[in-house]
Amino acid sequence: MLKKNECYEAEFTGYTSEGLGVTRIDGMAVFAPKAIAGEKCLVKILKVTKTVAFGKIEKVLVESPHRVKPSCAYAGLCGGCTFQHMDYEEECSLKAQRVEDALTRIGGLNLGKVDLLAAKTTGDYRNKAQFPVGMCNGKADAGFFRQRSHQVIPIKRCGIQSEDADKIRAATVNWIKTYRVPVYDEVAHSGLIRHIYVRCGFKTGQVLACIVANGDKLPREKELVTMLREAVPNLTTVVLSIHKKKGNAVLGDEFRTLWGPGTIEDELCGLRFQLSPRSFYQVNGDQAERLYDRAIALAELDETKTALDLYCGTGTITLCMAKAAGSVIGVEIIEAAIEDAKKNAERNGIENARFFCADAGEAAKRLAEEGTRPDVIMVDPPRKGVSMDVIEAMVTMSPEKIVYVSCDPATLARDVKLLEERGYKATHAEAVDLFPRCAHVESICLLSKEINN
Ligand code: SAH
Repeated sequence: MLKKNECYEAEFTGYTSEGLGVTRIDGMAVFAPKAIAGEKCLVKILKVTKTVAFGKIEKVLVESPHRVKPSCAYAGLCGGCTFQHMDYEEECSLKAQRVEDALTRIGGLNLGKVDLLAAKTTGDYRNKAQFPVGMCNGKADAGFFRQRSHQVIPIKRCGIQSEDADKIRAATVNWIKTYRVPVYDEVAHSGLIRHIYVRCGFKTGQVLACIVANGDKLPREKELVTMLREAVPNLTTVVLSIHKKKGNAVLGDEFRTLWGPGTIEDELCGLRFQLSPRSFYQVNGDQAERLYDRAIALAELDETKTALDLYCGTGTITLCMAKAAGSVIGVEIIEAAIEDAKKNAERNGIENARFFCADAGEAAKRLAEEGTRPDVIMVDPPRKGVSMDVIEAMVTMSPEKIVYVSCDPATLARDVKLLEERGYKATHAEAVDLFPRCAHVESICLLSKEINN
């Protein structure tokens, strides 16, 4: 029986889906952060449950050739990057393995080795930043939350964010300090400034700064805009997000534009998209393009084909498919995203796309009942995967192909299994890394209708 606070020698053999190292000690699975497969370590046990234990590495006894010195000064403090302690090669291999393991173990599939499309760059890639604001050692500041806490640690430069985001953060903190603007205290639910949110269009160079506040207006709004514009000359717009509710949601429901158009534009796959603070937009543009290209290539569209895109967001994949297909339909639950999607179609002169706002399950059911028979269904759901009514309705519509884009290999594998039990065959899976240094991974699985002889 493992004892808490005791140290044990152990060799790590793999990783959990959160990126923790996995080893076995006395027959029990033990998880520890910052471990690398193949390493022999001295592990201190911190917590023992009925089935698994958690520990931390006291000392690495035999070091992996993939171990590197973290390039970020905040590694281990900030809860953002999980893989600062290993090289990118090991990170890619563990992500590909994670997708393969999920498909095999949860999905019961055997699709062979899963290839991962690595990112060309692992730094400065995020086009969206969310900095919590709070008191740090008695001073107002902004940065990131300390791991597993809501304590704000000030950050000067985040290695995966754009430089503009850091400049907006620093200029906002400067404004807070200059005019003594109160920062939000989440325990007391008092104070004003909660978050600094930045979105950049990397292709267009446009930048949106959004200040999230526990109030309807800001003091010294004009001065804020001036200070932000001085810090980032290519700033496009400044928005206030009114967020007076308690809780962890970053953005509030109401927005007021303080300066500029209130939205920015960016380009993806040769198309132009309008983005508001709320619209879903993949945080890594270069890799999103490659993800969409791969997913659409697998769909094998041509002008005779109709494609249905469930969970379409602002219509990114839908409109990319529209270029190759006869017609496309996009479905999404957030009204504002659908409005953006319609405008995005217009903006790009795309006339063969229809969008409607609905729950994917209800929409799929209705389309199936109306006799809509798309040749291809593309799904790109949130982490929880697709619901059972979506599975059933997709099968009723009987498309030749289903292309499943996923941000969680476990739910992908579960859903693919359900589709396999209903006459579809998974023939190919691959992974794309949109989140270098972080534990998330995107994957794509192609399913084709089985021909009954
Ligand atoms: N394909 C898009 C968006 C993917 S994110 C892109 O790549 O940009 C998943 C989207 O599913 C989000 O926009 C979210 O609002 C939407 N969504 C979540 N639950 C939904 C549901 N039940 N029905 C329809 N859409 C849903």
